[in-house]
Amino acid sequence: MHCPFCAHSETKVNDSRLVAEGYQVRRRRECLACGERFTSFESAELIMPRVIKRDGVREPFNEEKLRSGLMRALEKRPVSAEKLETVLAHIKSELRSTGEPEIKSRDLGEVVMTELRRLDEVAYVRFASVYRSFQDLEEFRREIDSMGRNKVQKKKPGTRAKKP
Ligand SMILES: [Zn+2]
Repeated sequence: MHCPFCAHSETKVNDSRLVAEGYQVRRRRECLACGERFTSFESAELIMPRVIKRDGVREPFNEEKLRSGLMRALEKRPVSAEKLETVLAHIKSELRSTGEPEIKSRDLGEVVMTELRRLDEVAYVRFASVYRSFQDLEEFRREIDSMGRNKVQKKKPGTRAKKP
C-alpha cells in the first residue's frame, strides 16, 4: 500500500487486529521512507442489494451515506466508532441475508432502526424521526412512551412507567 503522505510504495505493518466483531482488519502502518504512520482498514467486498427509492428509482447501496446518517443520529452519544462499524456490518449482513437483488428504502430504514434501537435509544429516536417522518407529534410521543415502558419493565417487573 502506498504511503498517503509521500506516495512511497513500501510501508511496514506494525499492528494488525480484528475489529467490528471480526468483520474488519485494522492495520497500523508506517512508511519506510518518511516515517509517517497511518491506519488502513480491510473488509470483504460483498454485493449489496440495490435500493428502491419511494419514487421507484433504483440506486446502488451507499455505505457512506448510511454511515453519515448513523453518525448524525449518534452525534454526542456515548457510542464508540467501533460500535458504529459493528452496527454497519450487522445491517449489511442483514441486507445480504434477504437474498433479494433489491430492497425498498423503507425496508432498509426498518433494518437500520432495529439495529439503532438496540444500540442507543436517543440515536434511534433521532433517526426514526427523520426517516419515518412521524405522521404527527402524537405518534412520536407514543413511540417514546413505549420505549420508556420497556425500560421500566426490564428493571422492575410489575411496576408501571411514570408519565413524563
Ligand atoms: Zn511516506
